Amino acid sequence: MISDSDTRRVTVLGSTGSIGRSTVDLLLREPERFPVEALTAQSNVALLAEQARALDAKLAVIGDDSLLPELKARLAGSGVEAAAGAKAIVEAADRPADWVMAAIVGAAGLGPTLAAIRRGAVIALANKESLVCAGALVMREAALHGATLLPVDSEHNAIFQVFDFQAAGSVDRVILTASGGPFRTLSLGEMREVTPAQAIAHPVWSMGAKISVDSATLMNKGLELIEASFLFPVPEERLDVLIHPQSVVHSMVCYVDGSVLAQLGTPDMRTPIAVTLAWPRRMPTPAARLDLAAIAKLTFEVPDSARFPALNLARQALQTGGAAPTILNAANEVAVEAFLNGRIGFLDITRIVEQTLTRAPSGVSLNSLDAVREADNQARRYAAQLIDPAADDRVVQMQTRGRGRA
Ligand code: NAD
Ligand code: MG
Repeated sequence: MISDSDTRRVTVLGSTGSIGRSTVDLLLREPERFPVEALTAQSNVALLAEQARALDAKLAVIGDDSLLPELKARLAGSGVEAAAGAKAIVEAADRPADWVMAAIVGAAGLGPTLAAIRRGAVIALANKESLVCAGALVMREAALHGATLLPVDSEHNAIFQVFDFQAAGSVDRVILTASGGPFRTLSLGEMREVTPAQAIAHPVWSMGAKISVDSATLMNKGLELIEASFLFPVPEERLDVLIHPQSVVHSMVCYVDGSVLAQLGTPDMRTPIAVTLAWPRRMPTPAARLDLAAIAKLTFEVPDSARFPALNLARQALQTGGAAPTILNAANEVAVEAFLNGRIGFLDITRIVEQTLTRAPSGVSLNSLDAVREADNQARRYAAQLIDPAADDRVVQMQTRGRGRA
């Protein structure tokens, strides 16, 4: 639980990533108010050490344990404790902090996020994949241990700010907005040829590589539909998606009386992060102020499911339930990585996800972390085989993977 005082002890999981760096930026502005317990990263040891020194963190953990000697060397004389490995990241999440930023990318974030949840902490949840692959488990554990989940994803953060939880029955529709990504106006033929560099060059948001590719396929919005279904008491058929290229209206909640409440702002993740950091109060951020007169025009359009089939795949997985969202997420992680490594084309990403969903058994309920991991690993194996049929037994373990970038 967050204490009454304005001071809160914080931990940042994935501090060297895009969300992690935005979080650290806010923490550095008010170091007395936000003492830092732990920072974790996968491989960017130089930035991790620099952040830990600047924030005077108690602990810094690097996922790749071959980098522990370098982390120790970089922290020498600072008084910051150093540790390494996937287990040490979970232990970092388990240390006493009032507020934990869950900003590891992918299902790899599930274990550490659950550890923080089981302590009853306030979780600023950026790691949408943990909700997609284990939504029922995450929500059950949060309720059981009195944890508070505050959504960081800009759409869900917007909905959180305008959703009347006392009158959920009065919500008619929830509309998630989507920028449409860099290929919004491309034909299927043009999309077939796009490169990873083009896919990660998002027109509006500056983000990590994986979510940028997800935005380009619209799988990001698909994952967000599933994320929303767990975070808000709204049935799937009341969740809509609208393309809004300016990314000013971050999402909307429509009520039965015809009122539509939206949250607006410039596309800067420091705003939603600050909402969770100061919650239930507000804090200033350096995000650019919204100048609607300068923007002049906001546009909206219906997503094109023929060019962007990922959205429907995710909706179907949500309707199917059981292990389907877990399979969708795992296959997507494997396919996005293969695309980023130049092993498959852009349109193959959604094809691999679709074929994995057909092959992997989804009619099981995932009540435990082990069950989630088994479904996740099996889907990863199927997806890897579809990408490279020769690699029969390549098991891509969700715990040991890392993109190695940040
Ligand atoms: P990123 O790739 O920039 O950073 C990921 C972080 O996770 C890094 O600190 C990295 O070291 C760490 N990491 C990677 N693999 C790991 C592993 N196997 N074990 C432990 N740590 C690992 O990603 P990002 O863009 O900051 O996104 C983080 C999460 O936030 C994702 O789930 C993404 O969907 C979500 N999100 C991001 C944005 C955004 O604007 N970037 C917006 C909404 C939601
Ligand atoms: Mg989002």
